[in-house]
Amino acid sequence: MAQWALAMHGGAGPTRKKTYDAEEAHMAELLAQGAAMLAGGAPALDVVQTMVTALEESGLHVAGRGASPNADGIFELDASIMDGPTRKAGAVAALVGLRSPIAAARAVMDKTPHVLLAGAGAAAFARAQGLAEVDDPPAYYTPAATRPAAPGELAHGTVGAVACDREGRLAAATSTGGLLRKTPGRVGDVPLIGAGTWADGRVAVSCTGQGEYFIRANVAADVSARMHYARQSLHAAAAGALADMERLGGDGGLIAVSAEGEATTPYVSEGMKRAIATQGGLREVKTFR
Ligand code: ASP
Repeated sequence: MAQWALAMHGGAGPTRKKTYDAEEAHMAELLAQGAAMLAGGAPALDVVQTMVTALEESGLHVAGRGASPNADGIFELDASIMDGPTRKAGAVAALVGLRSPIAAARAVMDKTPHVLLAGAGAAAFARAQGLAEVDDPPAYYTPAATRPAAPGELAHGTVGAVACDREGRLAAATSTGGLLRKTPGRVGDVPLIGAGTWADGRVAVSCTGQGEYFIRANVAADVSARMHYARQSLHAAAAGALADMERLGGDGGLIAVSAEGEATTPYVSEGMKRAIATQGGLREVKTFR
């Protein structure tokens, strides 16, 4: 039997000018739920989807219900999910009109031979799957980040979960509203497998931060490559991949768990809403150091 582990994030956007008590309280509740699922033998893939769905619905983070509109006032969302044992993955980009982008990503993985569907095609597919729609966007969305981004500022938010289950199976899921007031059609790292999300037999990773830099550094897959080829520990690999992204000029963080049941949540931004639970007894819910 493997050692189970779970980590979650609510984005690397926090600033010390605000407090995050509601976010941390909600995450602590979810963490207990996810830990109980894993302890009871639930598959990592279902646990990460359950966690991300609840984070989307909470409206507390810039994802799902808490997402912010793009520069045209449209809510365009990105999400992805990956299953470590099979390396199957599903993703949606610039999805409009669906309540749960992560449910749409899971359907792409389970019901199509594809990995990524975008825009109108992604929305039509999700509707055809019977997934819940947003009937009245202004009433439904409660943007978690109401602060308008300054010109050129890459203010952002995301949610994610990674897990290792009792069978040693790894999975990762990430969902986002992306950058605040983003250019219509802009797609970040979140739906790009290898950039914002990755899971294989070694590690599961979910990233948050300025997506353009995470794409250019291929951060999520780089964590696994460092563990594989350079034989780095989980902690060294995660910190190294993040440092490479930071050298390009970006900021953000990631959460990762290994097949050995270790967890790490490094970040190089001001804060990152995050939570960890491991079978080894680690419990942590934090936003800053
Ligand atoms: N990485 C996300 C994006 O660029 C934003 C975030 O994580 O805060 O779309």
